[in-house]
Amino acid sequence: MRCPFCGDTDNRVMDSRLARDETEIRRRRECQECGRRFTTRERLEAMLPKVVKRDERREEWSRAKLLTSLEKACAKRPVPIDALERLADRLEKRTQEFGETEVSSRQLGEWILDELGGVDAMAGARFASVFRRFEGLADYRAFFEALETGDAPSPGAPEAPEPGGEPGDRDA
Ligand SMILES: [Zn+2]
Repeated sequence: MRCPFCGDTDNRVMDSRLARDETEIRRRRECQECGRRFTTRERLEAMLPKVVKRDERREEWSRAKLLTSLEKACAKRPVPIDALERLADRLEKRTQEFGETEVSSRQLGEWILDELGGVDAMAGARFASVFRRFEGLADYRAFFEALETGDAPSPGAPEAPEPGGEPGDRDA
């Protein structure tokens, strides 16, 4: 591992520790050339399965892509990036426990929905509307009803869309 300060490759590991739910090892290193310290991270990514898309194409697991789709679903919602990182951790753990060499994007989407709905109901609905191709209000209503009856932690009253526009507009 090359020192980020002087570029030398000779360094010594000072300390190793498990982090992030034991899916990451952080190593504190000291450069033997300039004496400065830096951290490297080793993740379990290599053990994650390939993702089989709807059209049967296989893609390597990508945490970056996962985070991008989570960020899109949570755009303009009060969800901190850190919560999305933890959500991605949980999804990777769940996928590892699944134990297969491949996972369908459909299965992955269901897991994302399951986790995301517990973090932010509106973000979950937004993700579901794309993933499940919602066609109307009934689909959203069914989604929120399932969320309320499911074991997901209650996210508070969702801002349910009103069916006929603003009340009181009609007589104008
Ligand atoms: Zn150095």
